[in-house]
Amino acid sequence: MSRFRMYPTSEQAGVMLDHCAHARYVWNLAVEQHSHWHKGRIAAPGFAEQCRQLTEARRDSEWLRGGNADVQQQALKDFARAKTAKFTSVGTDRVPEFEADGSPKLNAKGTQVMGRSVVVRRLNGRWAQVKVPGCGWVRFRLTRAELPKAKTFRVTFRNGQWHAAFAVIPEPVHAPATGEVIGIDRGVKITAALSDGRKLNCPQLTVKKRAQIRRDQRRAARAPQGSHAKTAGYARVARLRAREADRRKDWCEKTSTMLARTYGLVRFEKLNIKNMTASAKGTVEQPGKKVRQKAGLNRAILAQGWGLLRQRTEHKAPGRVEDVPAPFTSLRCSACGWIEKKSRKSQADFVCVSCGFTCNADENAATNVAAGQSGFPRPRRLAGAGGTTAATGRSSVREPQPSRVGIPLS
Ligand SMILES: [Zn+2]
Repeated sequence: MSRFRMYPTSEQAGVMLDHCAHARYVWNLAVEQHSHWHKGRIAAPGFAEQCRQLTEARRDSEWLRGGNADVQQQALKDFARAKTAKFTSVGTDRVPEFEADGSPKLNAKGTQVMGRSVVVRRLNGRWAQVKVPGCGWVRFRLTRAELPKAKTFRVTFRNGQWHAAFAVIPEPVHAPATGEVIGIDRGVKITAALSDGRKLNCPQLTVKKRAQIRRDQRRAARAPQGSHAKTAGYARVARLRAREADRRKDWCEKTSTMLARTYGLVRFEKLNIKNMTASAKGTVEQPGKKVRQKAGLNRAILAQGWGLLRQRTEHKAPGRVEDVPAPFTSLRCSACGWIEKKSRKSQADFVCVSCGFTCNADENAATNVAAGQSGFPRPRRLAGAGGTTAATGRSSVREPQPSRVGIPLS
């Protein structure tokens, strides 16, 4: 996704707001049908059937008829895709939210419009235009050197700002001839530790900026309803958040290109980011533990965009990205394979209690990931890059039994 701020004329903004309202209305109709189906009242209408119904609805409703048919149909397509994504866990930009009983939630606030057949043209170094159905050319600010190449785009309106997001799938990058394998351990302290010893960090907001966001948010929340202070405060918060997200995306783009270009096979430690970022609050019966710390961790995880890095690397190196199951990668000695909690001396240091191999803890984990080793591997000796091993002459390698393995804390 590459996202650009749009600057429509007031007339264009009016048309686009109508588009959004129509798209939301159609989306919500689809959601309602889906929940009727969910409760067993009707047969689930497919996309084609829904399109037929839309044509009928447009005949009956002057309001809908006044809008753009393409935009409205696109909302149905959007919903169909989101539904599939929900049931197949394939990534998409928009997944309908579901109630506790499994029926989808109505979209009360979302204002999005999908457009197909993207037509963009450059005006000068800083400005370009995109053709929005029914609005003609709408200007947007070019924050990247190149015009976006995409098949679809999405217009969103949030906090008083219009944005156009282009679904850009990058061209695959040629694999290097060396076929080198790299392992990547993703962490909170170091965003991505590579098995060759490199440490890559995703840019984040400073502590000061974060405090400022919190302050603005508090003030805006307390400001009287409808006041200028409230609107301006929330707009400031949104601006800072957007800036951080942009930097994160930029970093993910550059890093994924580097990975795809430099290494033949990229192995990521398999994380369940969804679980890790899920609410730590728990329920009334079972309140969550260490809620505050976990909330902090959640923020850090989200801030670092691991999921995005993995996704973009896959786009650029299709078929050359693998996931290695995560358990014990941080506790396993990459030199001898011994797994023990005590080997992890601190956040930063790994000292194998079995063979004496010492290494940076993140690098050790990344080396395990590169080797595709995590939990209960077959005996195998690996050269730990950048580390030293004390037991070079030993031929037999001990592997602990599952029952003896400590459960990782982190
Ligand atoms: Zn060891």
